[in-house]
Amino acid sequence: MSDPKPAPTYDLTTLAARAGEEARPNRAPALVEPIYQSTVYAFADLDDLDRAMSGAEPAAFYYRNGTPNAATLERALATLEATEAALVAGSGMAAISAALLGVLKAGDHVITDARVYGVTYALLAEEFPRLGIEVSFVDACDLNEVEAAFRDTTRVVHVESLTNPLLTVPDVPALARLAHERGALLSVDNTFASPAMFRPAEHGADLVTHSVSKYLSGHSTAFGGVLCASAELVALARTRLLRLGGTISAFDAWMTMQGLKTLGLRMRAHSGNAQAIADVLVNHPRVKAVYHPGLSDHPQFHLAMDLFPQGFGGMLSADIEDAPRFVKALAGRIPLAPSLADVVTTLSWPWGTSHRPLPEAERRRLGITPNLLRLSIGIEDIGDLLGDFERALDE
Ligand code: PLP
Repeated sequence: MSDPKPAPTYDLTTLAARAGEEARPNRAPALVEPIYQSTVYAFADLDDLDRAMSGAEPAAFYYRNGTPNAATLERALATLEATEAALVAGSGMAAISAALLGVLKAGDHVITDARVYGVTYALLAEEFPRLGIEVSFVDACDLNEVEAAFRDTTRVVHVESLTNPLLTVPDVPALARLAHERGALLSVDNTFASPAMFRPAEHGADLVTHSVSKYLSGHSTAFGGVLCASAELVALARTRLLRLGGTISAFDAWMTMQGLKTLGLRMRAHSGNAQAIADVLVNHPRVKAVYHPGLSDHPQFHLAMDLFPQGFGGMLSADIEDAPRFVKALAGRIPLAPSLADVVTTLSWPWGTSHRPLPEAERRRLGITPNLLRLSIGIEDIGDLLGDFERALDE
């Protein structure tokens, strides 16, 4: 046996840079994956590095290309959405942009539901045309209108499975058939439903996206987005995302994993509570309209019952006489917070927040009025929630 190399003596600057790493404990695997905050990985030799860089086997080498926490989240979300692969991103918008840019080029045409999240609307209405991609806005619940919008160059049809904020329900299986007959792909933003309520890929969707700060994480503490799709479509989107620099942080990926573990239980509670609140609000004289797929007067009630046998999640919207007074009456109990899907009930104001990017006339045409409030119903005790809403309406 050769003599061990004598340990060199280092300057404090060197020690400060290196100390501790050599004493990393080699314990049994942690039950919960640690957060890998390292922005780069060390390799044993050039062959080892070459294998990692060639993509021949899954490997982390540089943060922008993906951390072990992001890879774990990708595996989990592909499983939940029943797709071959997934790509996590720094935000829902980054995931949607990468998903669409992965398959589109100048000269292509997109058909989108006009009832999409305001920033998705702005992306399609203002950014894509600058890249030479043409976009038609339609009512995706009207299949004749969708069919009439197809061109020879149509590559993608984009919809939300439950639309933001009016909870309309496009017929995803019919849209998938229509798109595929014309050689196009169907892209579905599944943020409002979550895979616990609806898995678009099982109904023919090719690209499934989410803002993961919503139901997937559930606690308003993690930010990110995801595309779930075939390995081929994920690879196309990943190339765009990495070049545009839309990486999710290791911490946000890790936090999302913690939230994801309770998705099934949370969604059951959100759905039951939202249905109960919708049933009560609909009968109150100050409430002019309630938008929830579980109400029998919802325009797609029967389709919604078929596609969402487990319920619709926690979202509903309501047109409430003197909405500002109602919001004030709820202050201190139900926060006005412009996001959704927290375990705690929150209110939002689509007119002034999520749908602000849409021209005023377009907002009104879609039914998004200044008195429309979007309710994200949480998992609190339903008696307490009903009490809060009833007192606020009667104030
Ligand atoms: N899709 C829907 C339905 C949303 O509600 C949102 C954001 O609220 C997004 C996409 C965009 O996601 P992010 O804010 O994570 O970029």
